[in-house]
Amino acid sequence: MALEDLTGVRERVRLRKDQQTSVHSGSFHQLGRYIAYKAERAGVPLVYIDPAYTSQQCSQCHHIDRRNRSSQSKFACRACGVTMHADDNASRNIARKGHAAWTAGRQSRVPEPA
Ligand SMILES: [Zn+2]
Repeated sequence: MALEDLTGVRERVRLRKDQQTSVHSGSFHQLGRYIAYKAERAGVPLVYIDPAYTSQQCSQCHHIDRRNRSSQSKFACRACGVTMHADDNASRNIARKGHAAWTAGRQSRVPEPA
């Protein structure tokens, strides 16, 4: 399982007002803690990935362009032309980065064996 590491995102990234609300609200952080808790209890490995370009990068050809994200919900790659829901595209990027981080053994947060 992979989650974006959003620690310090407020300092690094200038977000739109509606995104700030979703990223920094208490319920958002609570959800992250809840997922980590449930993953550990289930023995599911959890990795945290760098959130940079997750929403701007094409999950199919990996082309990065701010304009790929044509609206809050739509993703349309300027390079290969693939279109999908923006959340679907971002999820695929998080999964790929998570797999890469897991394979490399970097930033892995493996639950302690019981
Ligand atoms: Zn593409």
